[in-house]
Amino acid sequence: MVDAFSIISEKVVDVAIKYGCEITVQKDEIISIEGVAMSDMIEAVAKRTGFWLSKKEGSSFFCNICSKGPFTKRGLYLHLSRLHRSEIKRIIEEELKVEVKKFT
Ligand SMILES: [Zn+2]
Repeated sequence: MVDAFSIISEKVVDVAIKYGCEITVQKDEIISIEGVAMSDMIEAVAKRTGFWLSKKEGSSFFCNICSKGPFTKRGLYLHLSRLHRSEIKRIIEEELKVEVKKFT
């Protein structure tokens, strides 16, 4: 079953990965996912998830899911989006559900 959380999470994955790789995310990119009303919540979830995705040692990044590394910023981005997309999506889905519960 495809629900709204799943659809939104799919779009938040890339933003979360960018945060994890310390790639700048523009507010417009977040607004384009689900509109202005949801943008603060989505940003919070993407940051929280993203910062957890990687560890930094010096200027190298390590994957926090499988501990592989060292990666460059771009290497980590590719690693996370190719190997861990579905796991990251699941985490975001759960985080979004927690956030929405706070307001209902
Ligand atoms: Zn990994």
